[in-house]
Amino acid sequence: MSQLHKFLFEGMPVRGMLVQLTDVWQEVLKRRAANLETGAYPEPVRHLLGEMTAAAVLMQSNIKFNGSLVMQIFGDGPVKLTVVEVQPDLSLRATAKVVGDVSDVASLSEMVNVKNEGRCAITLDPLNKLPGQQPYQGVVPLFDDERQKLENFSEVLQHYMLQSEQLDTTLVLAADDKTAAGLLIQRLPVMGEGNLSAKSTAADEDEIGRNEDYNRISILAASLRRDELLTLDAETILRRLFWEEKLVRFEPLTPKFACSCSRERVSNMIRSLGVEEVESILKERGDVEVGCDFCGKQYRYDPVDAAQVFVAETANQTPGPSAIQ
Ligand SMILES: [Zn+2]
Repeated sequence: MSQLHKFLFEGMPVRGMLVQLTDVWQEVLKRRAANLETGAYPEPVRHLLGEMTAAAVLMQSNIKFNGSLVMQIFGDGPVKLTVVEVQPDLSLRATAKVVGDVSDVASLSEMVNVKNEGRCAITLDPLNKLPGQQPYQGVVPLFDDERQKLENFSEVLQHYMLQSEQLDTTLVLAADDKTAAGLLIQRLPVMGEGNLSAKSTAADEDEIGRNEDYNRISILAASLRRDELLTLDAETILRRLFWEEKLVRFEPLTPKFACSCSRERVSNMIRSLGVEEVESILKERGDVEVGCDFCGKQYRYDPVDAAQVFVAETANQTPGPSAIQ
């Protein structure tokens, strides 16, 4: 079963999360494998998308935000796009667009950052948007401060966290064809009056001590091997890593697979193609068929259905914000 475990280190401003996606991740892979057009993900893509999926669940649980978290890589290599979307209830979906041969790919950069132009974007899209409110998006490159290509996706995200939230974060990620998993350790911002200048000396001393706690725990976390993260159960992992620390544990949460595609959204997409384009597809094939990239569901429109899509358009021509797909 897929589970997310949250925990705190007692008396220290450090928190952690461990996620292991099994059935949920296998569902993502199974649906892709069943797609006759694309076939199953090649191994390197599976590896990257699995790490992203685990990381996106960790990040969604790490923020207090009522909306979807969308993590994307816009690649400049044989993998053009990877997308993971996680809702506040930890339901998720994921997909990747592979446009070239990845059989010889041995690293992250060969897959998505060949020309050092690959980007990772994280979008927070609120569920109840105010009129005119835009989703928040943060973008980071796939290279370090010296423009050296990063080869671990966890480094890309650690960079992102430091940049966007100014929080020290340690991430260990791993994925194979059964499990996608991740461990996140984060130093919490020091809250309250301790931050104010009147007590600056005491607060500074505290801060050093807190950094030492974080550094020690971070080193322990980073010693976790990929195969341990994938195969050991959560209890064993936490006991082995942090047996000398006092953990406060919370009730585990259960991520699940869910796709938010709908006939209505597909109709909007078809409408955006325009009457002419749709008529030419109908002429050529007899119907319009659209498959969902995330879950594989097929939506079919015969000429009557297609005509209705455009009739509905004329009936619904009320001004308003356009729907996000
Ligand atoms: Zn779908």
